[in-house]
Amino acid sequence: MEDCIFCKIAQGQIPSTFLYEDDQVVVINDINPQTPVHMLVLPKKHIQSLAAAQEEDRDLLGHMLMTAKNMARERGVAESGYRIIVNTGRDGAQTVQHLHMHIMGGKQLPEQMV
Ligand code: 5GP
Ligand code: ZN
Repeated sequence: MEDCIFCKIAQGQIPSTFLYEDDQVVVINDINPQTPVHMLVLPKKHIQSLAAAQEEDRDLLGHMLMTAKNMARERGVAESGYRIIVNTGRDGAQTVQHLHMHIMGGKQLPEQMV
């Protein structure tokens, strides 16, 4: 999709370091990390948000979660633990309108989000 920053990153139009790439997803470090480990899983397909995902995206959503799990292990936080976040829509404070999964770890996270 034109003018979508995550489409441009996933398609290689904006140079970025891919921590992982396959035919469906890429994984990058968040540009503004909130935790020592803060990665983003981006689908190559443009989907605006989790709310916009369709039944046909079921396998992709599962693949994103398995990719997150594998990346957490690769980055050494599988045992200490981590948090997966999918901010969705206005109240979810989604700022980039292309579905993405945060993988956050490397420190004790607060029990309460709000
Ligand atoms: P959300 O939409 O879930 O609130 O957050 C979007 C996330 O994407 C933020 O954590 C922000 O730091 C990150 N982000 C925004 N633009 C870029 C970018 O150009 N490159 C990278 N690596 N991360 C980005
Ligand atoms: Zn996009």
